[in-house]
Amino acid sequence: MSEMLIKYNDKDQRKVDSYNELDNTEKCGEYWNNDKDVDLKNLKKSIKDHYINVQGFLCPYCKQKNVVEHNGVWDAEHIIPKDDFPQFMFSPLNLCVSCKDCNQAKSNKNVLKNRKRKTLPSNKEDYLIIHPHLDIYHQHIKILNSSLFFIPLDSKGKETIEVCGLLRFLYKFVDYGNVSIEVKKKIGLLHQELVSASTAIEENFILACIGDVVEHGKQLAQQEHIKKLCV
Ligand SMILES: [Zn+2]
Repeated sequence: MSEMLIKYNDKDQRKVDSYNELDNTEKCGEYWNNDKDVDLKNLKKSIKDHYINVQGFLCPYCKQKNVVEHNGVWDAEHIIPKDDFPQFMFSPLNLCVSCKDCNQAKSNKNVLKNRKRKTLPSNKEDYLIIHPHLDIYHQHIKILNSSLFFIPLDSKGKETIEVCGLLRFLYKFVDYGNVSIEVKKKIGLLHQELVSASTAIEENFILACIGDVVEHGKQLAQQEHIKKLCV
C-alpha cells in the first residue's frame, strides 16, 4: 500500500508543512481552491499526476478506466471530505484521484464510522466505504462487466454504491431510444450471467436487473408504437 501513496518532493513538502503548521481553526476546505497560490497549484498537480499514474487511469470507486493524458479529466479526491476534515487535506493516505462523476456524487458525504475522529484512521474497519488504499475492492463489490451492474457483497459495498452513485450506470438505458435490439442483447447477456451466478444475492440481483431491462424495453416499444400512430 505504501508505494501507492505520494511522497512529496522538497518544495511540495514545504507547502504541506506550512499548511499543517496553521492553527486548526485556520484550516478549511476552501484553502484547496485558492487558484492564485502558485505553490498550491504545483502541489495539487503533483498529487494528481502521482495518483493518476499509480492508479493506472482507473477510478477507485466505479473502476472505469479513462486513459487521457490531460489530468483535467480527473478530480483530486479526498477520501474523507476536506470540508469536514481539513486537517487531513494533504495526508497521502487520504488522497487519490477519482472520476468526476464519482467525486461529484460522493461530495461531502460521510465515509467514517466515527464522525468525530481527530486523527486520520489507518484501519479499514473505520471506513463505511471501500477505501482506495486500504480495501480490496472485489471483496466488497462485484461488477458485471458486460452490463456495468454493481453487486454489493457486504455493507461496505452497498455504502460505496450509494455514496458514489454507482447506480447511475443503469441510466444509460435511457439513451437507448428505439434501439430495441440493444435491449434484447442486454437481456441475453444478463441471462448468461444469471446462469453462471454463484450466490443467491447475485442471482436475485441479476433477476431484478432483467426485470428492469424488460420493463424499459416495453416502454420503448410503447413509445415506438405511439409514434407510429401519430405519423
Ligand atoms: Zn468513478
